[in-house]
Formats: sequence, structure tokens, C-alpha cells
Amino acid sequence: MSSPAHEVLKRVFGHDAFRGNQQAIVEHVTAGNDALVLMPTGGGKSLCYQVPALLREGCGIVISPLIALMQDQVEALRQLGVRAEFLNSTLDAENAGRVERALLEGSLDLLYVAPERLLTGRFLSLLERSRVALFAIDEAHCVSQWGHDFRPEYRQLTVLHERWPQVPRIALTATADPPTQREIAERLDLAQAEHFISSFDRPNIRYSVVQKDNARRQLLDFLRGRRGEAGIVYCLSRRKVEETAEMLRGEGLDALPYHAGLPAEVRAGNQRRFLREDGIVMCATIAFGMGIDKPDVRFVVHTDLPKSMEGYYQETGRAGRDGEPADAWLCYGLGDVVLLKQMIEQGDAGEERKQLERAKLDHLLGYCESMQCRRQVLLAGFGETYPRPCGNCDNCLTPPAAWDATVPAQKALSCVYRSGQRFGVGHLIDILRGSDTERMRQLGHDTLSTYGIGSDLDARSWRSVFRQLVAASLLEVDPDAHGGLRLTDASRDVLKGRRQLMMRRENPAASGRRDRTGSPRSGVAVQPEDLALFNALRGLRADLAREQNVPAFVIFHDSTLRNIAEQRPADVQALSRVGGIGGSKLARYGQQLVDLVRAQG
Ligand code: ADP
Ligand code: ZN
Repeated sequence: MSSPAHEVLKRVFGHDAFRGNQQAIVEHVTAGNDALVLMPTGGGKSLCYQVPALLREGCGIVISPLIALMQDQVEALRQLGVRAEFLNSTLDAENAGRVERALLEGSLDLLYVAPERLLTGRFLSLLERSRVALFAIDEAHCVSQWGHDFRPEYRQLTVLHERWPQVPRIALTATADPPTQREIAERLDLAQAEHFISSFDRPNIRYSVVQKDNARRQLLDFLRGRRGEAGIVYCLSRRKVEETAEMLRGEGLDALPYHAGLPAEVRAGNQRRFLREDGIVMCATIAFGMGIDKPDVRFVVHTDLPKSMEGYYQETGRAGRDGEPADAWLCYGLGDVVLLKQMIEQGDAGEERKQLERAKLDHLLGYCESMQCRRQVLLAGFGETYPRPCGNCDNCLTPPAAWDATVPAQKALSCVYRSGQRFGVGHLIDILRGSDTERMRQLGHDTLSTYGIGSDLDARSWRSVFRQLVAASLLEVDPDAHGGLRLTDASRDVLKGRRQLMMRRENPAASGRRDRTGSPRSGVAVQPEDLALFNALRGLRADLAREQNVPAFVIFHDSTLRNIAEQRPADVQALSRVGGIGGSKLARYGQQLVDLVRAQG
């Protein structure tokens, strides 16, 4: 703990040690070298350029497309006593002029700037007359035209290297796949730079997938043990977003909607409340998320299937950036599979594109239906091998049982065949279970040879069988018949008894509500005896945040408050040893915190 980097880490940020690759990156960049950094969300990318910017002479220029975030990022740095500013289109001329003068005078440590601003002749010439410590290119995957965040201006950032060859550049991204990585290196002229690639594992996120049978009850069960925690509930459609938010509010939860169809000011207002207040549940389409920098999101729920594994990884990655336990909970059923397959088949994309979308969906379904450790399946998708079962996913915690479903599968497939390959699952199950309904008699299906041959299984089990058959492409959705199922080439082997089928047995208790010990899981693990003090500290933090009109997490993270509640420092000196409190925050809030600890006994 003697190097200048460690000194800055402790004094300014209040952290005792670097994480993962951070130290190597900080030393590399501080010494004046270029770097390409791939790190998952929450891995701690910002320190990789913030610490070198403080150690090197001059101002660190941070290029980011996320204008909406800049103010909070800068605010968080100011709380630490760092001289930070931002320049983008939201700033009026007077304030922009003030920031520019500060840059010229050399009185800034870090300046956040949007790429289009950076590339103006005016700004580039301003840089010529200033002292630049480094260029940090955040969200570097925006340079890739294959990604969904493509920003043409990012292509022109090579100008930085041409005009300032001596100034180190560090490009950062949380986007995982190797082709994008190669494209970033090439487009930003970083092929010669050192590449720092971290594992994409997020060990604190617990992944669970449950079969949907009563979506509303299951969601409420999941949320029951999580009152007061912030989370995101993703829904496929705008309508469902609104309905879910209303339903949760009816249940007394602090839930808000977010989707692209809402007026801009409503969206901005809801996002702001989510960021600034504690414990808000945001019901949203995937329009919500890019650059959601809130560290204490305790859960991300998917009430519908996401579109791809990449999407799923990104969306769930918004949970637990602070490294504390967090949940990624996916609830899906046969209806979701049928809907997504239909959307692909009925879409007007070309055959090549459809092929790609089918492959992506199959990959995701493979993950959902897997009996293996979820983390292993997830990381394998990014070309990473996770050596052993993780112990922190539903399949590890409550291993699913496998059963030989060959005979039921044969019954299901032949029922599809006998009834003409055009009926949906509900009716097929009615045939198998021998339901005595008017419709059955009208269609003459009560005379089929498969009528009633499946009365040994209940409807829920049948739905599970059909879902797994569709997921395994042993049945396909007929795009022209409303959700009707038909056989595929692969079905024949099963029907002819040439292929055995093992299936996952649904675990009726797997609602995700409780962990193995049977106790509700609290996000940041606070001991019961510390809970009163922890909540009082949260109250103080909320007051401070309101007074200054900044998000609560900018002042202190939950983990810091938990450490204080545990250690109960008797004075400011003792408080300085609690992780997460640097010199500036100690001076600003130290006495208030100590007084509160004392008052609470
Ligand atoms: P990223 O940008 O990679 O998603 P951040 O830079 O926002 O991640 O960091 C994620 C969280 O981890 C932040 O809350 C930050 O304070 C915390 N953090 C980063 N590095 C450290 C460290 N060395 N020690 C403790 N906390 C850290
Ligand atoms: Zn696992």
C-alpha cells in the first residue's frame, strides 16, 4: 500500500485495494501507454482512467456518448473532492465558457465530453492549448457498426492519436464478443495497445429461471422478500409495462413505468426518481437501460423471454454493480416461446436474417431449459469456460431432476399429427387428457386414437412437455395457424422410438422467493442487529441527497452504510478506516455519521 496509485485510491476514493485488472491498467496508463479494457458492467472501469488522470499532469478527457449520465458522474467525482466538469449540449454558453477557461487554466482533473463536441474545431484547438493527461474513450463498442449503439463520430476519434501521439488513450467497454473487440482495436487504432480482458462473470448475480404458470402471483412472490430494494422488471410490450406497474402499485409497491411511448418528460422524470430515490421498481421495455449507472439495483426480472443471450446478459448486468448480492430472475412459459417464434416467422426480414434470429432464440432457449449450471452456459456463450458449477444459480442451489419423457413425448407428437397439425397447446392437452367438451365433440376429436391417452399427467406437466419439445425444435410453430403446432423432421426419430428424451422436471417450489436456508434473501447482507442503524443511516443519506439534489448513491453506497452499521465507529478517526469513505466525504459528512452512530447506541 505504498505506491502513488494506492495512495490516491485510498485518499480520494476510500478503497483499500484495487480489483482484478485495475492495478495493472492504472500503472500501464499512468506510465503513458495505450490500453484497451474489456470489463463487465460493475467491474470498476471508471477507476482505470480516473486514478491515472489524477496521477498524471493535466486534465483527463473522457469521451462518452451518454450525455444524460454526465451530470451524475461529475457530481459523484465532486463529492470525492475531484475537480470534474462536463461539456455537452445541455450546458448553456455561459457555463460552457466557464468550463473551457478552467481547462485552459489547468484547474480541472477530469472533463467529460460528448464525441460530437470533442470533434469540433473549436474544442480541438482548445485542447491544443491545454495540458491533457489522457484520453479515455468510454463505451468504445459504439465504434462498431454491427452493435446497436453505433455512433458514427466514434470513427473519427483516431484524430486523437494523430494529433496527440504522446497522450495515452484508454478505450473501455463491457461488450463481450471477440469480433466487436477486434473491430474496436482496428477502428480506434489500438491494435498495438495492450489489451486487458477480464472474465465476464458477475459472481454476485444469482441467475434463476422459473416456469411461468401464474405470472402475477409468481412476480409478487418474488418481490415479497425484496420490499425497499430497487429493481427493474422488463416486459416485452408497452401495454404490459403499464399493466405491471399499475398492478404493483395496487399491491403497495413503489413502481413506475418506462417505455418509448411515454412523453419524454414523463420518461425522464421516472428515470430520475429511479436513480435518486431508494427502492423504486421500474417496469420497463428494453428502451430502459443503456447507461443506467445506478450501483444498487438489487434485481432484474424478465417477465417475458428476452430476444437473445447478449440482450439477456446486458439487461441482467444492470443488477448489482456495487458487487453486493443481486438477482437475475426470468419467468417464462410456452406462450413466450410460441410468440417469439411467430414474431420471427411472420417478420419481413430476409431468410438469412431469420436464420440468425432462430439461432439466437434457440441459444437462449437452450439456456432456459438447461439442467446445467446457468453460469457455465451463459459464459460458454461468450467463449469463456467456467471451471465448475457456480453454486449461485437455481440449478446449482436446487438441482432439477431429469425424467425419461420419451413416451409422453411420443403421445404429444402423435396427438399433433392425428389432429391435423394446426391446433394450439391448450386444445392438444385437452385431447390428451380426454376433456369432454362441446368443442371436442364438434371437431370429432373425441374419436381420435390419442384422445384420453395422457390422463396420467396433469395439464401443467403437459405444458412443460410441449414447451420442451418446442424449445428442442421437435415441434414448430406454424406461422399461418394461430399458435398451431406441427411436426419437424426431427420429430420422426422420437415417434419411431429411435431417440430417448430426457426432460427437466419442473420444481414446484422454485419461485425464487427464498434461498436454500428458507430465509428471505436481503440484497446487501445486513445482520438483523445492525438493521435499525443501517436504516437510520439510509435516512440520513436520503436527507443529504435531497438537500443537494443528487442521487443517494453518489453520497454513499449501501455497502458503505452497512460497514458503518457493523463497525459502529466511535469517532471520525475510526470512521476513516471504514471502506468506501475517502478524505473529502470524511470531511463533509464524517461528524454527522458518527453522531448518528452514537445516538443509535
Ligand atoms: P463499470 O463502469 O465497470 O460498470 P464502475 O466503475 O461504475 O463499474 O464501478 C462499479 C462499482 O464498483 C462502483 O460502485 C465503484 O465504486 C466500485 N468499485 C470499483 N473499484 C473498486 C475497488 N477497487 N474497491 C471497491 N469498490 C470499487
Ligand atoms: Zn451455477
